[in-house]
Amino acid sequence: MRLVLLGAPGSGKGTQAARLKSELAVPHISTGDMLRAAVAAGTTLGLKAKAVMDAGQLVSDDILLGMLEERLAQPDASNGFILDGYPRNLAQADALDHLLTRIHQPLDAVVKLEVPNEVIVGRCELRFEAEGRADDNPDTVRRRLAIYAEQTAPVADFYAQRNMLQIVDGVGELDEVSARVKRALQGESAVANG
Ligand code: AMP
Repeated sequence: MRLVLLGAPGSGKGTQAARLKSELAVPHISTGDMLRAAVAAGTTLGLKAKAVMDAGQLVSDDILLGMLEERLAQPDASNGFILDGYPRNLAQADALDHLLTRIHQPLDAVVKLEVPNEVIVGRCELRFEAEGRADDNPDTVRRRLAIYAEQTAPVADFYAQRNMLQIVDGVGELDEVSARVKRALQGESAVANG
């Protein structure tokens, strides 16, 4: 199964992807996690990305595409993947489309987790206290939500126009949301037994 999870920061994409990956037996590919790992390792890419990430802005499309292309070439992604945090704008959606066509791995499904902004702000505050991510401080979360509305929300329309978009209510207990995501994916072969 090749799946894209869409949703605002704090909508639960990472949590749901982490739960789904064993069931689907595919890797969870989070571009945010990859960038944070690069920052922690102090690579050139990480040094470039850090200030942009801390400010809640988007890292350049070129960097992201190169990183993603390399990751999808790893053997564990050959049977599918769950993409979390990519694509983040229309240019990335288009680039992903071209990349997946070129490697003969078209997407099977796109699921968007829908969570109201006031719930997101509360969740990010909790995560800020628990994990101390600089970009979860309330001012930066508001900036990330504005960028999401402006640049990432159109990505959902991009997939809706291709009849690929499933919208799932992301508010509720983790198990409840997971069950909704799985129901949305039913009919896609890899979760037929899930
Ligand atoms: P996330 O963990 O997905 O919320 O990502 C954390 C931060 O990493 C974002 O606020 C961006 O600065 C950067 N980032 C992650 N994915 C992307 C992407 N697809 N395009 C640009 N920047 C990204």
